[in-house]
Formats: sequence, structure tokens, C-alpha cells
Amino acid sequence: MHAKPFLVLLLGLMPALAWGAPDLVLELDQTQRLIPSNVRYERLGNSVLISGKMVKPVEGRGRILGHAHVQVLTIDGQILAAIEVPLTNFQPSAKSPQRADFATRIDPLPVGARVIRVRYDASGRTGDAGDPP
Ligand SMILES: [Zn+2]
Repeated sequence: MHAKPFLVLLLGLMPALAWGAPDLVLELDQTQRLIPSNVRYERLGNSVLISGKMVKPVEGRGRILGHAHVQVLTIDGQILAAIEVPLTNFQPSAKSPQRADFATRIDPLPVGARVIRVRYDASGRTGDAGDPP
């Protein structure tokens, strides 16, 4: 079990972490033009670090615009926090990217948080006014 801690966390098989906090469930939206992948989270005290990639499901030309949406929800689907996260580190190149990274820290993780939902939003730039989370 110690060999692949992140994989174990993603699969939700670890019943409780050492400090007794319940596992978080990752919900990765597959319906958008870019697909969240390699998403993982790491608890740091009261905060949680969420990171991953946005990947083109089929290799293609064209820039990657937009940003990632990260939502924190209760098990019942109530949204506790919603943030927009910029995409960085376009790979293999900025001119012809197939994927990009995102990372954000939620500090503190709201009480009752159980689900982390990640979705790609192709519209506008990160933090554009009027862009609902
Ligand atoms: Zn957005």
C-alpha cells in the first residue's frame, strides 16, 4: 500500500488517513473539450493542494485557452468553494500544446468538504469578470 499512495487515494480505497480526515472524492468532468487527468490532492494541514493536467482527448492543433474550474462540494452536492485556476506549462510546446498543468491550494478546506470537482472551461481568460464558477 505504501508503494502507490496517490493511486490509493484516487481510488478511495484508503478508509482513513492517519489524522482521521475522511477521503475526498475526485469528480473529473469528461464532457468538455479538455479532460482533467492525473488529478490528485494532497492535504497540507487544514488546506488541500489540488493539481493535475488538462489534456486534449485527441491530439490536435490549436492553442489551449481557458482555465480549470475547481469546486469543493459536500457529499450532497452543495458547493462550498469554487475557484478558477490558470493553466500553465503548455506541453509539448506553447505553439502546439496537447496538455497543460493546473494547481491550486484551498486553504482552509471548508468543513464538510467531501468532493473535489474539476472541469475545463474554454471561455475567456482566467478570472474574467462574470464567468460563473
Ligand atoms: Zn471559467
